[in-house]
Amino acid sequence: MLLRHTPKEIKERKALTINPAKTCQPVGAMYAALGIHGCLPHSHGSQGCCSYHRSVLTRHYKDPIMAGTSSFTEGSSVFGGQANLLQAIANMFTIYDPDLVAIHSTCLSETIGDDLNQIAQKAIDDGKVPEGKKVIFCNTPSYIGSHVTGFSNMCTGIVKGLAEHTGVARDQVNILPGWVEPSDMREIKRIAEAMGARIVMYPDTSDVVDTPQTGEYKMYPDGGTSVEAIASSGDSIKTLALGKWASEDAAKLLDSKFKVPFDVLDIPVGLSATDRFVEALANAAKVSIPDSFVAERGRLVDVISDMSQYLHGRKVALFGDPDQLIPLTEFLLDLDMIPTHIVSGTPGKKFTERIKELCAERAPNVNVKNGPQADIFQLHQWMKNEPVDLLMGNTYGKYIARDEDVPFVRYGFPILDRIGHSYFPSIGYTGGIRLLEKILGTIMDKIDRDSDGTDFELVM
Ligand code: SF4
Repeated sequence: MLLRHTPKEIKERKALTINPAKTCQPVGAMYAALGIHGCLPHSHGSQGCCSYHRSVLTRHYKDPIMAGTSSFTEGSSVFGGQANLLQAIANMFTIYDPDLVAIHSTCLSETIGDDLNQIAQKAIDDGKVPEGKKVIFCNTPSYIGSHVTGFSNMCTGIVKGLAEHTGVARDQVNILPGWVEPSDMREIKRIAEAMGARIVMYPDTSDVVDTPQTGEYKMYPDGGTSVEAIASSGDSIKTLALGKWASEDAAKLLDSKFKVPFDVLDIPVGLSATDRFVEALANAAKVSIPDSFVAERGRLVDVISDMSQYLHGRKVALFGDPDQLIPLTEFLLDLDMIPTHIVSGTPGKKFTERIKELCAERAPNVNVKNGPQADIFQLHQWMKNEPVDLLMGNTYGKYIARDEDVPFVRYGFPILDRIGHSYFPSIGYTGGIRLLEKILGTIMDKIDRDSDGTDFELVM
């Protein structure tokens, strides 16, 4: 029992988080920056921060993640980090030749009060940014928010620094995909292409953090949205922002700066959210939904109806990021399962409201909490008081799954001890089948493991 000290009795806590259901803002900012072609992310803080951000991304994506750091020492902590950042910008463009550098702050540089806007402008004025190259930035103090708000802040920084308005309308739709896997971003592009919808999607980490092994190392892989494509997003007809937490702020900025209207949608996880996404894209791009999608959807509906007998009424505990948990909860309800305990470390009042709305009819007693004290410890305590049939969340859930002997599906960020998330989408209709297959397979494995000889079934 690795978590044997977790008590069943729940006490109200303030100012204490145990096993947080989130990580730090710059991790998200770095991931978003990697979705721009030719971009070198830069962490304005100490080397330890940058090493952590890089290592958690490398461990999740199993690909090397490159980034610069301002390498703060005691001196920069006292006198400010401007000199280090100016030197770093000059070094990065001289030695590593990126198309742009995307800077995010850290706890320390925010506490000192470094002004990234002013330092970036000084770098340009001092000639440290070569002609045609760009520097963008965002603020990501990690004592507030989470990796999701860091991702959102960098998306807003991308719009601020790169989007333009030429006055010539373009027949294209912006898609802000939210924090999803590279496989999911590839799936969104496949869906748009199959519909004949012209899109500009950013960030796009496909072919950046899931690169093929060719024998040749590329510091800037082939993937990522080009600076030119992002620039054109100020001329698009509409923005579809997937995930309120990760994408809404950037969509709002595109609207207020360039008058590009937007809709905020759920990330298309599961049947209902995918229906809404496909319909919204068809309307925005003025295209029709192809017959092939009717078949794709029909296959998912068929699997749901065939397998619901094994899933009906089973209780699920979930933890992770709000943009993922909301459509996942809806999907579990579509599978006739009962979302029972839900925790997200990312703050935002709307989360609990939305989950309660979704669960009102079929799971009215759902326990839901988000924000700093909504942690994995709390989830474990809830599970001790009301056991569940399935746990879904990132790798850190494996300790609870082992102690409580609960089937466990890895879902979300980070997944450090399995592969697959980078390569197989879990969004869209086909992704829905994959998710269902993982849920069902994990539950059936436990049934097989626990059954005695008389009810050990060969056929489902
Ligand atoms: S929480 Fe703050 S100090 Fe820790 S790694 Fe993140 S930015 Fe650095």
